[in-house]
Amino acid sequence: MSARQSLVAGNWKLNGSRASATALAKEVADGAAALSCDVLVCPGFAHLADVQATLADSTVALGAQNCSVEPSGAFTGEVAAPMIAEFGAQYIIVGHSERRALFGESSALVAQKAKAVQQADMQPIVCVGETLEQREAGQLQAVLDEQLDAVIDQLGIAGLAHSVIAYEPVWAIGTGKSATSAQAQEVHAMIRAKLAALDSEVAAGLRILYGGSVKPDNAKELFSQPDIDGGLIGGAALDAKSFLAICAAAS
Ligand code: PEP
Repeated sequence: MSARQSLVAGNWKLNGSRASATALAKEVADGAAALSCDVLVCPGFAHLADVQATLADSTVALGAQNCSVEPSGAFTGEVAAPMIAEFGAQYIIVGHSERRALFGESSALVAQKAKAVQQADMQPIVCVGETLEQREAGQLQAVLDEQLDAVIDQLGIAGLAHSVIAYEPVWAIGTGKSATSAQAQEVHAMIRAKLAALDSEVAAGLRILYGGSVKPDNAKELFSQPDIDGGLIGGAALDAKSFLAICAAAS
């Protein structure tokens, strides 16, 4: 039995209106009261205030999907981690594969964002994962090393105690083609072993989430693996019943 408390996080991406985000948050908050896992929702920036108000007095935590590396200054269009913290947010996702692929975020930049999140007293959820081409070329370990080493360099291994890792194989995100529980467990164990070589206590306490086409019908099998401590959920997080069923599988 793992001593790690499971976490299920919903990444709402660029979706919804103020009204629909509020309605989704309300349904999740109502359903989460009976759950024993940690539940987190990450709406778009423009919906943080509405969702914060809706989640007040609930057990559901609030997070964001990205932030600037800068705390303030002349950086037009950026959103700083301390601004997000003002909404009572506890987590910020950094390094999602869509940020890396579509917005050119390097592992060094992602690591700086993780640091900025911690400096604002929140936990980064650092996303790592390989493309299908990288997996087929036998580069999985090298990709993970490059992505994780940047974070270790920036936070120090002790800093990882105040963070969450999400393993999200790029080929499984939004494709309906989840990694099998065995494939996911193998990579989670690789990540934990790499960190354990630096600090076994930090590695043992670190939550490593799986993300990539998690649905109510595959969640239990994935979450029953020893090194999978919950999930980062995209598409299924936009439907409260599906999201709550996934949370129940982690509870
Ligand atoms: C994601 O984007 O982080 C994700 C896991 O998406 P989906 O669940 O839709 O595959």
